[in-house]
Amino acid sequence: NEGLGSWPARRARKTPHRTALVHDGRPADYRTLHTRTTRLAHALRARGVRRGDRIAYLGPNHPSYLETLFAAGTLGAVFVPLNTRLAGPEIAYQLADSGAKALVFGPSHAGLVAGLPGNTDVRTYVEVGGEYEEALAAASDEPIDTPVAPDDTCIIMYTSGTTGRPKGAMLTHGNLTWNAVNVLVDTDLIADERALVCAPLFHTAGLNMLTLPVLLKGGCCVLVEAFDPEATFDLIERHRITFMFGVPTMFEQVARHPRWAEADLSSLRILTCGGSPVSTPLIAAYQRRGLTFLQGYGMTEASPGTLFLDAEHAISKAGSAGVPHFFSDVRVVRPDLAPVRTGETGEVVVRGPHVMPGYWGLPEETAASFADGWFRSGDAARVDEDGYVHIVDRIKDMIISGGENIYPAEIEDLLLAHPDIVECAVIGVSDDKWGEVPRAVVVLRDGASTDPDALLASLAGRLAKYKIPKSVVVADALPRTASGKLLKSRVRSRFGTDS
Ligand code: AMP
Ligand code: MG
Repeated sequence: NEGLGSWPARRARKTPHRTALVHDGRPADYRTLHTRTTRLAHALRARGVRRGDRIAYLGPNHPSYLETLFAAGTLGAVFVPLNTRLAGPEIAYQLADSGAKALVFGPSHAGLVAGLPGNTDVRTYVEVGGEYEEALAAASDEPIDTPVAPDDTCIIMYTSGTTGRPKGAMLTHGNLTWNAVNVLVDTDLIADERALVCAPLFHTAGLNMLTLPVLLKGGCCVLVEAFDPEATFDLIERHRITFMFGVPTMFEQVARHPRWAEADLSSLRILTCGGSPVSTPLIAAYQRRGLTFLQGYGMTEASPGTLFLDAEHAISKAGSAGVPHFFSDVRVVRPDLAPVRTGETGEVVVRGPHVMPGYWGLPEETAASFADGWFRSGDAARVDEDGYVHIVDRIKDMIISGGENIYPAEIEDLLLAHPDIVECAVIGVSDDKWGEVPRAVVVLRDGASTDPDALLASLAGRLAKYKIPKSVVVADALPRTASGKLLKSRVRSRFGTDS
């Protein structure tokens, strides 16, 4: 077995007594992880799961998530993590689309699972807790050796779907291994790492930028079911956490918390932030606390690490997403795939051993998302004179006003620096004269009483006139995905028309 399924056995051979996982204050070493994974693989096989079958998982961060992932890999089956925030019909769609035969789920989702329609292929349901533990206790711990090759599919991970219907990205054992190798090459991750896993494991980054690299290296992962800023301080202090990964909103909540100034953060060595643009004020706030962000840019389809800004350049290149990971090739190109000149905006395309072979069951979408072997990210970016890539925005979110291209992120960045604005989204609204003009949708700090004209006036002279929003809408909150990404299409449908 050359796949992920062999990792617990390989780790148990090298470091059986080192702690692999901590959950609810209880540690489990690598030997335990190996034994439990093997037992689960036997139990699933006894329930009819075979090589190539899909096994879905629905639940918050928990050791059983990783045991199910590795057990699937042990059998040559495919792991399908489901987003715990989805509604019943959305879960049903992903179960039906993936053709999952088995579903392992947490007690928190028992109600949702009981209400699922009967027309999926799921034949085996295992609830984490009593039922799961009984299945393990009754199963053999004889090692299982199934032939699994690097090109075999390991995971089908549904993209968070800021646009359209979710698509299942097929990630092979090789894709995930190369991504973990890229993380190990490009950070100073060590065997004594104690990682705080408070990002959801069902998203690519929590699994692949944090948990799998740490387990490959033999470090320890502290699993937390849901991110909570208050608890984060306790966990960092109690477990002397050295490594954290989060999306920017998580790091923002931590920095805004009353305990921020007092907490003992001296154990932290590596903070990686990714998934959305990281604002300059956020970088500065951590800097003042003596903490430096590493920044990652990536996408589910690329397992996900693509660009990385290391510690050495975190300040001098702040605002950039960095350069390609060691085993990754990235270009910023024009529509005809010719690389852009320095400073010109184009599309990010990526190629490398970490890039998926395609979307599950969607050959046309797969073909449309590759050009000449390069995966098209749909993100607009510039490259500076040193080769550092600056992500500008989603190409689809670009506003065209009077023939000028406007990337909303640039305006959002300035608005977010305003002390009264906590969240903001800039969208295009139709305009008789210009075709489209920018509109700012803002969420104000509690108690703020700024009037919209003053907000716009604060932009005067800092942006070209055509980029200054023509209207401001104050909202209570902005629609976001589970991973904190703005749902621009929903912002547009909710706030983009005058009614
Ligand atoms: P997903 O499909 O959920 O994996 O999200 C991938 C998308 O997130 C990318 O195509 C980008 O639009 C966005 N993204 C990820 N990392 C960054 C980053 N560091 N800066 C800006 N956007 C990012
Ligand atoms: Mg995407």
